[in-house]
Amino acid sequence: QQALDTGLEKTKDNLFSKLTKAVAGKSTVDDDVLDELEEILVTSDVGVKTTLKIIERIQARVARDKYIGTSELNGILREEIQTLLAENNSNDFQSFEYGSHKPYVIMVVGVNGVGKTTTIGKLAHQLKQTGNQVVLGAADTFRAAAVDQIILWGERVKVRVVSQAMGSDPASVAFDTLKSAVANGDDVAIIDTAGRLHNKVGLMNELTKIKNVMQKVVPGAPHEILLVLDASTGQNAIEQCKQFTEATAVNALALTKLDGTAKGGVVIGISDQFKIPVKYIGVGESMEDLQLFDRKAFVESLFK
Ligand code: GDP
Repeated sequence: QQALDTGLEKTKDNLFSKLTKAVAGKSTVDDDVLDELEEILVTSDVGVKTTLKIIERIQARVARDKYIGTSELNGILREEIQTLLAENNSNDFQSFEYGSHKPYVIMVVGVNGVGKTTTIGKLAHQLKQTGNQVVLGAADTFRAAAVDQIILWGERVKVRVVSQAMGSDPASVAFDTLKSAVANGDDVAIIDTAGRLHNKVGLMNELTKIKNVMQKVVPGAPHEILLVLDASTGQNAIEQCKQFTEATAVNALALTKLDGTAKGGVVIGISDQFKIPVKYIGVGESMEDLQLFDRKAFVESLFK
């Protein structure tokens, strides 16, 4: 919780100080206050649609209760954000345990620079800490640096990495990784993929090919298609989410760099717009700085 609190400090300050200013000298939540709240949420990158949804819900409460004091606004906003997140994150992720699939296969997608490699390294570390045997597949063969970085993370957190030369077929690396995972009795295999958002059909074909090859080794794989997004890029993250979800069946999100941004509101907007659970959040650069997303703790941190 403490790492989360410090990680979200900027977002919290942003929301809080602006909210305090907006209600200064006013006793009731009126249209002006709601207009200001709308502006604050939009500038925190909650997104227009989601912001309007929140504002409408508060308006409905004002209409019902006739009078809402500005001192209650914080509490109400917190409740509404909780409710919204609960609608899309009904299964809170409480542990790094992955149930009955062995190996549990995670295919990681996302554009370059969002923190994909770092997230894979951190995740491998956390999984290992919780008793899982992990293997990494360096299937982003498009960039030499990507393969090197995965190998480096493998050394740092002491997990095996399967790789081939740069430029080799990503599907072939994925195949090798899963073969190795099965032979070795690994619990989790995490496969990196190339972060190119060339065109939608190209991306779709590439990811489909990797998935098909995986299924030859582990039926049902990948169990998790994890999209990594940089929370500090706000609306860009939303656009990337749109493109990747159109190209492949993303079923989990990781939002990185929440520590460096005042725009953590994007977590709320993305979760609401795409109905895909936010599973992990990144709150720093070290291997410990990945957390399972806990919506209650998240909202607590924003309003502490
Ligand atoms: P990739 O190109 O998507 O694989 O990105 P990298 O994993 O190489 O990360 C790009 C940069 O973002 C690196 O300098 C990372 O240390 C940094 N980074 C990744 N995740 C986080 C995070 O949660 N917080 C912060 N502050 N930096 C991060």
